Amino acid sequence: MNMDDIFSQFGDIFGGGGGGFSGFGGFGGGGGQRRVKGSNLRIRVSLTLEEIANGTEKKIKVKRKVQAEGTTYKTCSTCNGTGQVTRITNTILGRMQTASPCTACGGAGQTIDKKPADADAHGLKVKEETVTIKIPAGVEDGMQLKVSHKGNEAPGNGIPGDLLVAIEEKPHPSLQREGDNLHYDLYISYSEAVLGASREIDTVSGKVRIKIDEGVQSGKILRLRGKGISNINGYGKGDLLVHVNVWTPKVLNKEQKEFFEKMATDDNFQPNPEKSDKSFFEKVKDMFS
Ligand SMILES: [Zn+2]
Repeated sequence: MNMDDIFSQFGDIFGGGGGGFSGFGGFGGGGGQRRVKGSNLRIRVSLTLEEIANGTEKKIKVKRKVQAEGTTYKTCSTCNGTGQVTRITNTILGRMQTASPCTACGGAGQTIDKKPADADAHGLKVKEETVTIKIPAGVEDGMQLKVSHKGNEAPGNGIPGDLLVAIEEKPHPSLQREGDNLHYDLYISYSEAVLGASREIDTVSGKVRIKIDEGVQSGKILRLRGKGISNINGYGKGDLLVHVNVWTPKVLNKEQKEFFEKMATDDNFQPNPEKSDKSFFEKVKDMFS
């Protein structure tokens, strides 16, 4: 399997030749008789973050052209099976010999002899097949995987095209992805911030319980090492960064209001950041280091 974005480098090299294998993806090998390559097929696969995190296997139904049973081939009479036609022209420099792909057979050296009624002009017919696609961990939205030879087949001794799989990432309800790292926004109440708490959070491998220390500051980032996405190149796993947000009540009753008014002048309620309480920008810097 190849991660490279290899959209067909082969255009339609030869034009429409009568009865030949024209219009296929390209050639294999060089010189003389050529192996025609079937065209590539493209599909999309939609994956959850959980599937991406650890890699998965997908069975996908694909409609691909395959050689119809009962199709037979014969040697191309135009090029006698060589796949090339030579032309000799007289020029002022003398006789010149040029070779070009045979247009009658598209360079394959073969043409259709007999084919069943349900096959197309190239002796192919569409068949639904289930293809197993191995998705490595760490793929990203927009990436393309190549499954070799699972595209459309080519006639005769041709080689099948490839199946190109475009990756789509389904949005996760509570986790945001940033490369191999994941972010989770945790909202805790004012009381939980003051008294400490134990909360369950989502990860790509199920729920995990974390402890929030008493006196936690809003904006604190808790790093759960190795709880992110596996790197696609095998460089370990990313982290899960839990962002602590303290939820401030918007409406207070009389009693609560009186309490907080009293605390407004209490020394214990005055901000007093220590060196260990990093500023937001230091934390962001930390996240990327
Ligand atoms: Zn030919």
